[in-house]
Amino acid sequence: MKPARFKYANPKTLNDALSLRAEYEDESRFLAGGQSLLPTMAFRLAQPEILIDLNWLHELNYVRLETSGAIRVGATVRHREMQVNRLIIDHQPLVNEAVFQVAHQQIRNRGTLCGNLAHADPSSEMPAVMLALEARFHAKSIDTDRWIEAVDFFLGVFETALEGPEMLIEIELPSMPERIGTSFMELSRRPGDYAMMGVAVVLTLNKDGTCANCRLAFCNASDTAVLAPKAMASLVGKPVNEETVRAVANIVQTELDPPDNINASSAYKTHLAGVLTRRALLKAVERASGGARAAA
Ligand SMILES: Cc1cc2nc3c(=O)[nH]c(=O)nc-3n(C[C@H](O)[C@H](O)[C@H](O)COP(=O)(O)OP(=O)(O)OC[C@H]3O[C@@H](n4cnc5c(N)ncnc54)[C@H](O)[C@@H]3O)c2cc1C
Repeated sequence: MKPARFKYANPKTLNDALSLRAEYEDESRFLAGGQSLLPTMAFRLAQPEILIDLNWLHELNYVRLETSGAIRVGATVRHREMQVNRLIIDHQPLVNEAVFQVAHQQIRNRGTLCGNLAHADPSSEMPAVMLALEARFHAKSIDTDRWIEAVDFFLGVFETALEGPEMLIEIELPSMPERIGTSFMELSRRPGDYAMMGVAVVLTLNKDGTCANCRLAFCNASDTAVLAPKAMASLVGKPVNEETVRAVANIVQTELDPPDNINASSAYKTHLAGVLTRRALLKAVERASGGARAAA
């Protein structure tokens, strides 16, 4: 099918883009990489009156290291940049590892990280990664400017905390302390497919090797990316080994209640969540212990 007729605008400044959004509100859509929006329009599930193309906003095309050690990624930065950018590879290995699971290279060449997050598909990898990392989202409109914590950003299937005329202009990935290990694992039917189940792990160790903090975030386990707070808390203060990790995985399996979908039953997804948690935690502790912050 072809999209319904629409107008097209290619503003050259953020201010102009936000003004257009304020003018057309819900009758408009921001066009980032178009990898989710254009298929939706082709099926006429979305029929915006006007597309506001973000690709000319060069001021939002950055990956920047802040003095705090945090990394900021602007709205027009593509998935591919998460694969090759030295700042991401060195400072945000979880993002770098997970992005290779997002779709296919052609889609990563075009799709953007912020577009992916604004789209808020519960099967997507990156929302879970943002939850695990405790990322922050910078939302701006002509009249407002605010930061939203990852845990408050994803509200439901394709639903975020962005309000009316707001644009997601950048995200902030917090700095990684010492003795931290991360890991992302998923299972999908074919390479490039959305995950049947996926887990993002951020594990921080105390000097004595016990767990100081553990974050476990899952994709395709609910209407949004979700954390498993009971499982996370259960590991704190304990050594991270086969036995404790297996216990955490068992808690995950009782804590999550993933819906059935065409690719996998709830029971199978629950089983996968346990297996992936165990494997990803063991990988994360290996990386944390070795001081290996790189994904590979
Ligand atoms: C075959 C195929 C396989 C895929 N597999 C995966 C996968 O395995 N995992 C995965 O995560 N994704 C997958 N995707 C989706 C892909 O990653 C998209 O790139 C991503 O979901 C959207 O990014 P985009 O930049 O293309 O956004 P667009 O399609 O341009 O926009 C998506 C939505 O977000 C809005 N939007 C975009 N940018 C902003 C912004 N800055 N502020 C506010 N709203 C904004 C748009 O208006 C639109 O509603 C797949 C896509 C295809 C076609």
